[in-house]
Amino acid sequence: MEHMEGLCVTDCERCPDLVESRSRIVNGVGPDDADLLFLGEAPGAKEDEGGEPFVGRSGTVLDDALREAGLARADVRITNCVRCRPPENRDPRSEELSNCRGYLAREFELVDPELVVTLGKVPSQHLLDRGVAITKEAGSVADARLGDQSYRVLLSVHPAATLYDRGQREGFFETISRAAELSGLADSSSGQSSLGDF
Ligand code: URA
Repeated sequence: MEHMEGLCVTDCERCPDLVESRSRIVNGVGPDDADLLFLGEAPGAKEDEGGEPFVGRSGTVLDDALREAGLARADVRITNCVRCRPPENRDPRSEELSNCRGYLAREFELVDPELVVTLGKVPSQHLLDRGVAITKEAGSVADARLGDQSYRVLLSVHPAATLYDRGQREGFFETISRAAELSGLADSSSGQSSLGDF
């Protein structure tokens, strides 16, 4: 049983472990024509409870970084590689990632963002289809194919990394500001954020 209505998966039982551990399917949120799309790994406990990506502690960090970049959560789309919470918050397995990939491809195709920001190692590797040393590669831009299309991708550490290691906070905030610029969402009147272009 699988069903996708527009951008939302309403029914899916492809991954036995995840069907067991989830309380609901957590779909992406935000405008269906967003210029900027954030891609996380999979829902955690709070997301499973609330039915929305990034509403726990990581979400607070992301919201803070968006605000500092002059953006609000409502301006961007936020989704995950896998839409159901893995047991004990383990990483999604490769077959779970591939089971969910078609839904993600459809979401990307419909939203057609100017820029995708991968939040952490798992979504970066999933989109680029190679091993990624995320702390080293964060801030770099690459092209990735998903479905029949190619997307511009900005790699980022996961917001939770800033909670384990406070030293990563500044770099994370800078990457999110860069995302605002690259997607064309940065407020050009606030000179500071565009100085990096010169
Ligand atoms: N971490 C993720 O990767 N995704 C979420 O939705 C929440 C935390």
